[in-house]
Amino acid sequence: MERKEFINAKRIVIKLGTNVLRNDEGEVALARIYSFIEDISRLVKSGKEVIVVTSGAVGLGKKKLNLDSTEGDGVKQACAAVGQSRLMSYYENGFGIYDIPIAQILLTEDDFSMRHRYLSLRTTLNKLLEMGVVPIINQNDTVSTIELADRLAGMKVSFSDNDKLSALVSSELDADLLILLSDIEGLYTANPKENPDAKLIKEVNSVTDDILNLGTDASEGGRGGMRTKLEAARLVTRFGGKVLIANGKVPYVINRIFEGEDLGTMFIPTDENLSGKKRWIGYATNVRGKLTVNEGAKNAILKNNTSLLPIGIVKVENEFNQGEVVSVYDENGTEFARGMVNYNSEECKKLVGAHSDNIVNILGYKNYDAIITRDNITEL
Ligand code: GLU
Repeated sequence: MERKEFINAKRIVIKLGTNVLRNDEGEVALARIYSFIEDISRLVKSGKEVIVVTSGAVGLGKKKLNLDSTEGDGVKQACAAVGQSRLMSYYENGFGIYDIPIAQILLTEDDFSMRHRYLSLRTTLNKLLEMGVVPIINQNDTVSTIELADRLAGMKVSFSDNDKLSALVSSELDADLLILLSDIEGLYTANPKENPDAKLIKEVNSVTDDILNLGTDASEGGRGGMRTKLEAARLVTRFGGKVLIANGKVPYVINRIFEGEDLGTMFIPTDENLSGKKRWIGYATNVRGKLTVNEGAKNAILKNNTSLLPIGIVKVENEFNQGEVVSVYDENGTEFARGMVNYNSEECKKLVGAHSDNIVNILGYKNYDAIITRDNITEL
């Protein structure tokens, strides 16, 4: 895709990672943060809508509290509480110079998972943009349950880092472009820190499993890494958004991107056009239950676009209610879809392997033939 076409975007989400917001001493990288603000102000004044997703609260709080580590119950949360207001003071001051109002928005997994909160958040963000405000979003580390999520049996949370958060925000707002700025040029053919022959990939047309596997783990200080950025890119390109991963340490990088400079890795939208509901089912909501299905049911879902019938189910795990979203696994243990169930976990357990005609005999009633209706399935 031509650069000119790629950067042609009205609604833009820009994610600033911990490592571009602080310098080598762990202090705020003042010149850089103000240059981001200057560039973003220029975009806003040219009529674009910009949403910032910012990291850095934990890092700045840790520095302020003179801590060597954030290990221990509540320490990271405390650091975030101290660092967040400090972080916002730079944005408030910087955007204030350009007369651009900003808004602080702190989010947890539940704000996406609970549909009424999700819809209310979308209304608020749209209103802020309409009013010419730049929303500044971060994860609400102080109250987030992510640290506990491992202890909640079978629970998969919608996001645990700001890369995924910025993708969910892009999806919720139908953003045209998500820019992920970190301390690496973009996606390489191999890890450039280990392999001198690694080459920068300029354009990715589809975030396949092979592309996802190029992702490495988190960089120091932040929770995301290349892997979470690629997962973010997969989600956004599936609903028709564009994604750019670029190096936030390049001076005036945002300005240069919008002047058409060939920086970073571009991710081109697929033609799937995933609907809002399917995005929410596949990515935005937390998932607790787990259904394992046989090969026949898997093929029927993936190749023939069918509903999931009880006859294809081999195992039901964890507790869930009707209307909640569950993961669908194949017998090799690979999660290939998510869907909103028509029956609760107890009913599903009774219906394992049953023919739909027998539902009424087994349960004494029948609400649906399918455990998950086609419209409520998102393939991953
Ligand atoms: N919310 C965290 C912070 O502000 C960053 C999370 C991340 O790096 O993804 O420090």
